[in-house]
Amino acid sequence: MHGNDDLRGELRSLVSALKNHVAGEKDAYIPVSSLNRKDSGRTRRDGVPAEDAAAAAPTAAGRQGPGGLGAVREELGDCTRCPLHCTRLNLVFGEGSPKARLVFVGEAPGEEEDKQGRPFVGRAGQLLTKIINAMGLAREEVYICNILKCRPPGNRNPKDDEIATCEPFLVKQLEAIDPEIICALGTFAARTLLRTEAPISAIRGKFHDYHGRRLMPTYHPAYLLRNPDAKKLVWEDVQKIMKIL
Ligand code: URA
Repeated sequence: MHGNDDLRGELRSLVSALKNHVAGEKDAYIPVSSLNRKDSGRTRRDGVPAEDAAAAAPTAAGRQGPGGLGAVREELGDCTRCPLHCTRLNLVFGEGSPKARLVFVGEAPGEEEDKQGRPFVGRAGQLLTKIINAMGLAREEVYICNILKCRPPGNRNPKDDEIATCEPFLVKQLEAIDPEIICALGTFAARTLLRTEAPISAIRGKFHDYHGRRLMPTYHPAYLLRNPDAKKLVWEDVQKIMKIL
């Protein structure tokens, strides 16, 4: 029984790692030979999640050069900089086009994201995907990431020290991608990036300056699941983004 569970876990990790490799290869030109890395499929039982190992493949960093997304991923490594590493299953770096003109920034991975090592793949993520598609875009054309790379236990709110530890990597990701527009999803993303205490309701729907880039705060898809009436406001907000793109 235990052996079967192990095997199932290994297989799940392997599939997830392969998906990440293939996505990474499309975007970052990781050679197919890297699929044969002997550490593919590792789970956190040996302390190195498969997705971490896959996304941190040195080839990716090498191909993208210093300052590229691969280099940022490599620098992050199997991060133990804050206590969230003790409870995470997988670090969720982010995914999408390394040349995206639009980057969505959420709060932190939830349960499903933690399991899969991918951002916005749970219920809120499915809604975000619908929003992206309604904008006439595919997930692969944008970049999706979070303020925190690791799931806070029980999906509690991120703590200030966790944000302070993790945010520099988000800043480096944004520098590497160099998008025209950032869409901050929800209170934590908007407040963190804009250094404001203002409620999301007061700052959403308007472009703000983020180090010379346009930043549009809007409601988090998880909020929309609880408050479907706010969907029309988010639609208004993303239409402003679409006008520019
Ligand atoms: N909520 C977030 O803020 N980020 C995710 O990746 C998933 C849910």
